[in-house]
Amino acid sequence: MREDKDEIPYDLELGRLKEIVKEGKAKRILVQLPFGLRKHALEIARTAEEAGTLPIIHADPCHGACDIPFWAAEILNADLIIHYGHSEMLSMPGGPPVYYLEARMNLDIEEAVRKALKLLEPYGPVGLATTVQHVGSLGRVAELARSAGHEVFIGKAGGWVKYDGQVLGCDFTTVRAIAGHVDAFLVLGSKFHAIGVAIATGKPTVMANPYERVAEDVGREARRILARRYASVEEAREARCFGIIIGLKPGQFKPQVALRAVKVVRESGREAILLAANEIRPEYLADFGDVDAFVNTACPRLSLEDAGAFGRPLLTYPELLVALGKLRWEELCEAGWFGVPGS
Ligand code: SF4
Repeated sequence: MREDKDEIPYDLELGRLKEIVKEGKAKRILVQLPFGLRKHALEIARTAEEAGTLPIIHADPCHGACDIPFWAAEILNADLIIHYGHSEMLSMPGGPPVYYLEARMNLDIEEAVRKALKLLEPYGPVGLATTVQHVGSLGRVAELARSAGHEVFIGKAGGWVKYDGQVLGCDFTTVRAIAGHVDAFLVLGSKFHAIGVAIATGKPTVMANPYERVAEDVGREARRILARRYASVEEAREARCFGIIIGLKPGQFKPQVALRAVKVVRESGREAILLAANEIRPEYLADFGDVDAFVNTACPRLSLEDAGAFGRPLLTYPELLVALGKLRWEELCEAGWFGVPGS
């Protein structure tokens, strides 16, 4: 039977939630839910209360496992944090324990995957990738791909990634590891992750979207995004003053990268000002009139997806190196755009 799009079958692991509360003897918990899971807030809160704790739902935006609200838990005197929707990433020594409940999905993937395999017919070996919600379906995707005549590769877990074949919006360790063995990638999930795979590997990439039951080659869109990035870097070559942003979310906090950025900007004879922000949004940066270009040391997807909205270049640190003539654009693309070792 076809699932209603509004009724995506997440596994909320309510039994495990109760166990965590009881075993931790938690009197108060802070629950973090990404958009998409918030419609289940009442059900989750009720379950936690039944287990004997006071649940508080964190209502600020949350886009990744990197964004754990340790400071909020401290202010609220929460004994532990429950983070829904991502696999394990962060802990804080001396801070409240964090439990990641992955919210796996039990979706019928076959229609989307068969459509994707049609688009992959011209290619030989394929690599597979997905998000934590669908890692349980990757074996079935591999079977379907093999039946369609492809040799199949799935990259080993590494970096921030917990499972073989899993990708995050900023971590493509698994696909980079196998890119040399495959002609193309099949990504089970959303366009957001498929575009990331295409940019990180430079390989033809087809999304199989099980929510909409559609497939799409995202190559053209990935190339369009990279062309926009190149234009931003070119614009920043003329900048006299750079605003270097330190992201305050725990997993995005890279002050050492920001300080390196300040150093290279000043060595090139320009000015640099350090900014710190929890949320990097166009309206919050609009008033910094002295700044010609920003450098975002936090989530790289902000630069990739939202750059046009900022009205000025919003470079990543490796892109800054290109703008200042310390790295070639081709080298950045060959390194998979998301990270340049040693930069
Ligand atoms: S840094 Fe950005 S892409 Fe990476 S996990 Fe956090 S929100 Fe996702």
